[in-house]
Amino acid sequence: MAEIHEARRSRAKQRVAESGADAALITSGPNVRYLSGLVSSNAAVLLPADGPAVLATDSRYAETAQRECPDLELVVERQLEPALAKLAVARGYHRLAFEAQDMTVERHEVLAGLSDGPELVPLGHVIEDLRMIKDESELDLLARACALTAEAFDQVLGKIGPGRTERSLAVLLERAMIDCGADGIAFDTIVASGPNGAIPHHSPAERQFQRGDLITIDCGAQYGGYHADMTRTVALGEPDAWQREIYDLVATAQRAGVAAAVPGAEVAAVDASARDLIAAAGHADHFGHGLGHGVGLEVHEAPMMAPSRPGTLMDRVPITVEPGVYVPGKGGVRIEDTLVVRSTAGTSQILTTTTRELLVL
Ligand code: ZN
Ligand code: ZN
Repeated sequence: MAEIHEARRSRAKQRVAESGADAALITSGPNVRYLSGLVSSNAAVLLPADGPAVLATDSRYAETAQRECPDLELVVERQLEPALAKLAVARGYHRLAFEAQDMTVERHEVLAGLSDGPELVPLGHVIEDLRMIKDESELDLLARACALTAEAFDQVLGKIGPGRTERSLAVLLERAMIDCGADGIAFDTIVASGPNGAIPHHSPAERQFQRGDLITIDCGAQYGGYHADMTRTVALGEPDAWQREIYDLVATAQRAGVAAAVPGAEVAAVDASARDLIAAAGHADHFGHGLGHGVGLEVHEAPMMAPSRPGTLMDRVPITVEPGVYVPGKGGVRIEDTLVVRSTAGTSQILTTTTRELLVL
């Protein structure tokens, strides 16, 4: 693993050099993990454009850092950002780039107030951009997270019936993911039944399932730091015509989005491939969110796929494709897969394999 992190750091150093900074102070947790391998709630990496990187963490993580990152110089310090900023100046890195998307105003004030501190300049989303294209080891972990999600989903399907609450299904599903071998859940599970299905990110509550409900379940396992994301909508009892109609529409839009997700495709065009079908069916106002997002060390990461978003898909970029139709007061449907954009196979590789046919329970 050490070689993988070293290779990532050398790519990142090149970007730091291109930014004009002498070094970067990497503070975002997922970015620190990506560059060092260390999982910690308090760690940072000093990444010079030219020179060895330094990892800083506090005593709680010192032993793990020594074990997991033996190739990195380690600074053990509670106030690690000022310590690394001072070290940067001592090593001649006077122009220090920081991650404005992560740094709070308060922490920035501390760094800016250091006597003889470095000049602080924003780095931008340089590491997030590097993280977008995954290596095969990352894709293996993501595939495992997705397989665990599908396995857990299959296990709880038989437990969906009238009288069960949204909350109890969410708990069962989360438990099943852990039992199947997940390290944790990728995000709080969404279970939205009946009229609640019209709320894309409904928090599961005490509503009991009833015959005639559509039930939208959005869940994901986390494995080795990688986040799966899958949504299925099932019917409890034979669906009405309107329910079948929006299900078929969303399923068609989802297939169109998956088919459009090829290397070189503009993200806005992929979004439009699904959105235009939904709009043509008269539901433009019922699909408010973007078509999908990148997944990896975070459940929502680059690239974000939405109308007028810039960006192009590339080989080895995992994304979700998740159109929905939400009819206020009535209910909704969302179908979401995690897939990997691939140039080799000629088609994207869908990692969340649960059937996309409407399951009538
Ligand atoms: Zn989701
Ligand atoms: Zn998603």
